[in-house]
Amino acid sequence: MFKGFTRFLQRPGERLKTLLGSQDGPGDGPGLRIIPREDHPVSRKLFSEAALKVLYRLHNAGFEAYLVGGCIRDSLLGKAPKDFDVATNATPEQLRDLFRNSRIIGRRFRIVHVRFGREVIEVTTFRGKPGDDHGEHIAHQSEHGLLLRDNVWGNIEEDALRRDFTVNALYYNIADFSIHDWADGVRDIESRTLRLIGDPETRYREDPVRMLRAIRFATKLGFRLDADTEAPIRELAPLLLQIPPARLFDEVLKLFLAGHAVDTFHALRDYGLFAMLFPEAYEAMAELPWAESLIERALDNTDTRIREERPVTPAFLFAALLWPGVARRMDDIQAEGMPPIPALQAASQQAVSRQLQHISIPKRFSLPMRDIWDLQLRLPKRRGKRAIQTREHPRFRAAYDFLLLREEAGEIDPGLGQWWNAFQNADDHEQHRMLGKLDGSDPSGADNGRKRRPRKRRRRTSSSMGHHD
Ligand code: ATP
Ligand code: MG
Repeated sequence: MFKGFTRFLQRPGERLKTLLGSQDGPGDGPGLRIIPREDHPVSRKLFSEAALKVLYRLHNAGFEAYLVGGCIRDSLLGKAPKDFDVATNATPEQLRDLFRNSRIIGRRFRIVHVRFGREVIEVTTFRGKPGDDHGEHIAHQSEHGLLLRDNVWGNIEEDALRRDFTVNALYYNIADFSIHDWADGVRDIESRTLRLIGDPETRYREDPVRMLRAIRFATKLGFRLDADTEAPIRELAPLLLQIPPARLFDEVLKLFLAGHAVDTFHALRDYGLFAMLFPEAYEAMAELPWAESLIERALDNTDTRIREERPVTPAFLFAALLWPGVARRMDDIQAEGMPPIPALQAASQQAVSRQLQHISIPKRFSLPMRDIWDLQLRLPKRRGKRAIQTREHPRFRAAYDFLLLREEAGEIDPGLGQWWNAFQNADDHEQHRMLGKLDGSDPSGADNGRKRRPRKRRRRTSSSMGHHD
């Protein structure tokens, strides 16, 4: 792919000289390399009309305008860019004057969203080094080095060096269609290496979410983590506990809805990051033999659905990620004598409220998530009108899929899933026959499901939740 491009980069004599020294800038960057249009494969055809409109309007108004970040990185990798980020020397206020269809959002990072129909172009003003004395002085840093706010305007070099990875600091200049490479990002694209700009530990302390971004990009792009970028992660993983839950919710969705959720999960776990995001699930995995398999299967389903362009819901994802913690708590509560339904309610309540201290889950996802759990107790009870009622529950399909996961993971004995599969596909007459056959063997009878298998070991008792014959 991109033969000319690669050839250009392999001829050292052709490497463009550094045009801007680093003596005046932040100091540790390798300097600018400009790759002219004829020497790179990134064409305007790859960009959306909306992105081009924003670039040209800025350019025509006398501002600098570049496409930057994922769209240039992905274009160089031969992947279709998924969204477009613009960087400019126009301030948010100037941007608002220039684009009627725009609004300033964010506090930690003030950015401008320019809307064209359903497409939103994110425009950011060049940011300076935090603590620099020029520009508006509004960068704030906690005593631990965490960047609380970062709105100091700067020039493009400063902007480039405060981006996270070298491959994310490539700028496409609308003035002459060249690519500006500030941190040897092209070299790292060619060797498929994800490398932080600057000192990794400092950069992770400034923003611990960069550890999650490292895992996400490495997995999604199939890049290896540079050794220095990789080294501090395990030790610094607990810094994620400082991140506001709402931001982590967004990050977790990006981590698990990019089509590589299983690999991402393994990497997060190996680097000690998973335990910081989902502590209950992490603890439960050590105790419940089925827990890891349940999570892996749920993530694998998610990956498959994304590959097949079917819809995925965060409710199902979170239902699976939190379920081991819920099941473990439910076992404990039931062991004290509480019946299953209130035990599940109490366990869900406790597990969710602990999780919300780490990652917020908006109500539009947490309510269906809890429906999926509640239905796990209703699915075994099928006699009389119950099966019909459960079948009509708006969350039946998700709950049934969830039941299958639990069976496949070995949490509960198989069989009930198959029954429901047959029941869904049967006509009235056949459904009637299936319900008749249940008599005497269905836990929805007089004992109301409370007849539980003798407790062997703590971890096995959750099996009683799905026990159905
Ligand atoms: P994608 O959109 O494919 O997930 P992206 O690289 O475009 O990848 P965004 O989150 O859209 O990622 O961010 C756009 C750019 O902003 C990044 O490429 C990077 O240059 C910069 N950036 C984003 N988040 C951070 C961060 N936490 N620290 C430093 N720079 C960041
Ligand atoms: Mg992006």
